[in-house]
Amino acid sequence: MSLHGDYDEQNIFAKIIRGEAPCYKLYEDDEVLAFLDVFPQSFGHSLVIPKQVQARNILEIDSASLAKVMAVVQRLTRALVDELQPAGVQVAQFNGAPAGQTVFHIHMHVIPRFTGESLGIHASAKADPAELEQLQARLLARLG
Ligand code: AMP
Repeated sequence: MSLHGDYDEQNIFAKIIRGEAPCYKLYEDDEVLAFLDVFPQSFGHSLVIPKQVQARNILEIDSASLAKVMAVVQRLTRALVDELQPAGVQVAQFNGAPAGQTVFHIHMHVIPRFTGESLGIHASAKADPAELEQLQARLLARLG
């Protein structure tokens, strides 16, 4: 059952943390990493993950690490709102495949929402790398 089980060290976010896979990094400190979702459901869709804990989901992460992740979620949400001026923002987190989880390293989604634009299909269409690079530069300027 995907809600329970062993942590797979080969999951894509573990590889990103180890530097074995690339990401459009937005923020990093010793404990937390934030980067752009490459299959975004909206313009600016970003992810925030803990770096030091091998937790698949919210059941497994310790509350101190979760609090550090959430502090970065708030900081990133503010930067996204300042830069992209969305009409709303969704902060979401899924636990287990039936709940929509596809990567089994806990992560928070930060999804800007724009008036009249419906949410894209989850983890489906890959964004244009040039567009992601431009967006990364805009957000880094805000976060810096
Ligand atoms: P979830 O379905 O909640 O597990 O979310 C996983 C998210 O990770 C989805 O929104 C995917 O689009 C995203 N994703 C998968 N692979 C990558 C990657 N290599 N870089 C950035 N985002 C990714």
